[in-house]
Amino acid sequence: AAKGTLGLVPTMGALHEGHLSLVRRARTENALVAASIFVNPLQFGAGEDFDRYPRTEEEDLAMLEQEGVDLVLLGQAADLYPDGFATTLRIDGPLGAELEAARRPGHFDGVATVVAKLLLMFRPARAYFGWKDFQQCCVVRRLVADLSLPVEVVCCEVVREDDGLALSSRNRYLSAAARAQAPRIHAALAEARAAAEAGERDVERLVALVVERLGPPFELEYVAVRDERDFAPVDRLDDDGLRPRILCVAGLEGVRLLDNLPLPGRA
Ligand code: AMP
Repeated sequence: AAKGTLGLVPTMGALHEGHLSLVRRARTENALVAASIFVNPLQFGAGEDFDRYPRTEEEDLAMLEQEGVDLVLLGQAADLYPDGFATTLRIDGPLGAELEAARRPGHFDGVATVVAKLLLMFRPARAYFGWKDFQQCCVVRRLVADLSLPVEVVCCEVVREDDGLALSSRNRYLSAAARAQAPRIHAALAEARAAAEAGERDVERLVALVVERLGPPFELEYVAVRDERDFAPVDRLDDDGLRPRILCVAGLEGVRLLDNLPLPGRA
């Protein structure tokens, strides 16, 4: 505390440049930076990849040291959840029911519970999250407001490969063929953004454009436009005050790929 403000970067490890962008932002805004590496069992559903989630502790620690991180929490489930653990947070309303929440029941309850625990353990002035996980950013902002937690939530832009694919620890699950297809998601979203910038205000048309681009081999789950302040659906880009993002989740050979781009509030 004597040294000044602390910035916290919560992660599940298998770190890449997306995570490091949060660390670097935290580094510029705080005297001290902490990161956590914890594959949180509470946020994985039955049949999801908890057991095979990539664990690369040594490389992660080397990267964090290189970035000048002051403190790292490396945790196993037993370290964070004591015997007899019985208290969880529940996210109600659209954030807890729609889009990602509809496909991963209980996921955001698990996220909210672990994020609240980490914020209480570290008591950072600022906590850093990526827009890559759009709904997670909205959930964390909601939880901090609802529980009056004294922390500033900073959401950072998506970091991508040169070909547009959003970086993700799960990209390593992609076969060479799937990896070659994957950048088409960003390309489709970028086309929608270009259409919006060229004056298209009707969100339904922008969504249809993305849907049209992502036929097989993609297993399209949803395309939607939501406001980043409150997760509200956006129908028309006709208000400078809007903060819309176009979201897309598509599977490739069973790997779920999440991506999104900001749109202009008024086309
Ligand atoms: P994870 O380890 O997947 O839980 O991610 C930890 C944090 O890094 C989350 O706040 C993510 O949204 C963020 N993150 C993951 N990938 C990216 C990316 N490509 N660009 C920006 N932030 C990211």
